[in-house]
Amino acid sequence: MKKTQVDFRTKCIHAGNGIDKETGAIRRPLTMANSYRLPEDASAMNWSDPDQLVYTRNTSANQIYLQEKLAALEGGEDCVVLGTGVSALAGVFFTFLDSQSHVICSNVSYIAVYRLLQEYFPDKYGVETTLVDTANLEEIKQALRPNTRLIHIETPGNPTTRVSDIAAIAGIAKAAGALLSVDSTFASPYLQQPLALGADLVIHSLTKYINGHGDAMGGAVIGRKELINRIKRQAMVNLGGVISPFNAWLIMRGVVTLPLRMEQHSRTAQTVAEFLAGHRAVDFVSYPGLSSHPQHGIAKKQMSLFSGVMAFGLKADAAIHNRFINSLELIVPAVSIGHDESLIVYVGPDDERNHFYPPEFRNGHLRFSIGLEAAADIIADLEQAFVKCGLSS
Ligand SMILES: *Cc1c(COP(=O)(O)O)cnc(C)c1O
Repeated sequence: MKKTQVDFRTKCIHAGNGIDKETGAIRRPLTMANSYRLPEDASAMNWSDPDQLVYTRNTSANQIYLQEKLAALEGGEDCVVLGTGVSALAGVFFTFLDSQSHVICSNVSYIAVYRLLQEYFPDKYGVETTLVDTANLEEIKQALRPNTRLIHIETPGNPTTRVSDIAAIAGIAKAAGALLSVDSTFASPYLQQPLALGADLVIHSLTKYINGHGDAMGGAVIGRKELINRIKRQAMVNLGGVISPFNAWLIMRGVVTLPLRMEQHSRTAQTVAEFLAGHRAVDFVSYPGLSSHPQHGIAKKQMSLFSGVMAFGLKADAAIHNRFINSLELIVPAVSIGHDESLIVYVGPDDERNHFYPPEFRNGHLRFSIGLEAAADIIADLEQAFVKCGLSS
């Protein structure tokens, strides 16, 4: 049986794994080494070959296994794994944008993407950027220019959970001769498969759901071999943001349980989102699984479940929002998402992207990543924090 023709859950376990030739171990070992033995005559060899084991900045054994697994999970021809989600995103922009090109990007996206595309690439390299609400197809069409090379979307978006229609935007990109890259970190490949919907590149912060245990960082880009090869040759070998073999090994281990975790994150998040939406001290809740979410219909069409991240606001000022998160006993005030433990952050109105947020977000909001704890315990923790803040229902 071919490992590529099996169910997603089976791929999570078997893809990229194999028998270790030296010991017969049924799991690929962790290989912590910077360099690999050269062939007897290395004179004709390309020392920067990103697919040969030469030097760990070109690639490492554990990186190769993880690339194989992630390519299988996204249904892509090839994958490049890098040191962080941001190095994967920067690798895509560095490889496919130049001083002649224009890029369209979601106006609410990961903060480093906003800074790279809004400030650094335009200022340093002359790249033209248009930020639009990519949930609105008309805004994308109107932003197109003859030199648009890339449309980059994040769906669901961080931190608003706004959803963009991948298949429709893929059609727009294709007609315009541009590539479509999708940051699918909030969904993970278990809930959403952008390549099957027509995207050219899928990007993940492996730090989040794919590893899932909050103990390693990584990033990945998956897509056609020709595109991934360019990222490996240009951005990986020459910018150098590679992953440590140990982190690749940890992520390989974490991803085995991805389907189980995403099922539970999604189920619990739905329960918690409904609890919050029914609380009188809550101003708004943004979660793609709620029928009140502005793109609930698109989310239902392109995601199998709605994942574990939501944003909400209290009918209260910044001081109360801070008191609320500091009153929590189980839910941890910390950045990141997609861990085993629930995480919450307060994003105040001073955030540099604030003017792009939907209006209800602009007085400050809470980004809440639902962990794997029991739903009843998460809700009990929220309840006691509401009481401590004088916000009980
Ligand atoms: C966290 C995150 C990133 C950045 O990933 P790092 O691994 O922290 O570099 C990019 N995109 C999204 C949507 C994220 O949530």
